[in-house]
Amino acid sequence: MSLNMMDMHCDTLMKAMLENKQDIYENAATMVDIKRLTDNGYLAQFFAIFVVPETMYREGLHMDPIPSEECILRCHQIFEHTMQQHEAVVSKATTVDRIMENAAKGKLSAVLTMEDGVAVDGRMENLDRFYDMGVRALALTWNYENCFGYPNSRETKIMAQGLKPFGKEAVAYMQDKGILVDVSHLSDGGFYDVADIAKKPFIASHSNCRELSNHPRNLTDDMLKIFGNTGGVTGLNFCPDFLTNDAKNKESSVEMIVAMAKHMKQIGGIDIIGVGTDFDGIEGSLEISGCEKMNLLADGLSRNGFTTGEIEKIMSGNLLRVMRDAVK
Ligand SMILES: [Zn+2]
Repeated sequence: MSLNMMDMHCDTLMKAMLENKQDIYENAATMVDIKRLTDNGYLAQFFAIFVVPETMYREGLHMDPIPSEECILRCHQIFEHTMQQHEAVVSKATTVDRIMENAAKGKLSAVLTMEDGVAVDGRMENLDRFYDMGVRALALTWNYENCFGYPNSRETKIMAQGLKPFGKEAVAYMQDKGILVDVSHLSDGGFYDVADIAKKPFIASHSNCRELSNHPRNLTDDMLKIFGNTGGVTGLNFCPDFLTNDAKNKESSVEMIVAMAKHMKQIGGIDIIGVGTDFDGIEGSLEISGCEKMNLLADGLSRNGFTTGEIEKIMSGNLLRVMRDAVK
């Protein structure tokens, strides 16, 4: 079955790097691998280079921190190595034209992205360097302050902070250059600055609706409307933390994800909805526990009244449109 699916966010490269793997072709221990993506008819998968912060190594991973630049280099090497070793089935893509060329040859496209602009380090040359590596989407922040601005937070003072002067300049620069500006993880103040500055559509690669799950990582209804007005796209996130109002919820069901899609459609319109699973960056009891089960999302949407045309938009059509508008 061909889903023509595109997923805007997974942390599979991080998993591979932390486990000292050479490639991401096949790994039963991860939620995503190239073999399962191709077996399940994916059109494209975005692979994030997540710049793992020092505190996460020490507190979560209990290992010595890997310096940011080395982390980026190693993830990039794993990505490129996989592309070289498996060029018959997968190819790196930076544009929609390239995605379509790959698809015509029966190949999956892999798009490189970056999560956390911390490594940009206040210098446009670094954005040039990451662009040259193939990075075509950048989440401006993760959960800490950086050169772009401030993260999502339950502290209203932090949440209200906008982009820094460099962040504003860099957003305009990224859009000129053709790198997608990703507001997932950003503060609310930062979101509104992006919305002010943006001349092209932008994305929230893996964020749900705050109205249904009151988490600072999710988008308010006002933000969903802005996505509708600016032609951007948001990615349905499968993480239990972002799906309900129960802070202890550890479950991620198709119905919960579909409820998010319904709300997005009602507030921002069908054209803002995409998919950003967050696979390999999330835990819990996941009904869609890996890329091989993505047909369950299509079935769930269909069961809940989404038409075939609408499901196609969610699976890839909307993101392809945004990439045509904003990626070079
Ligand atoms: Zn994330």
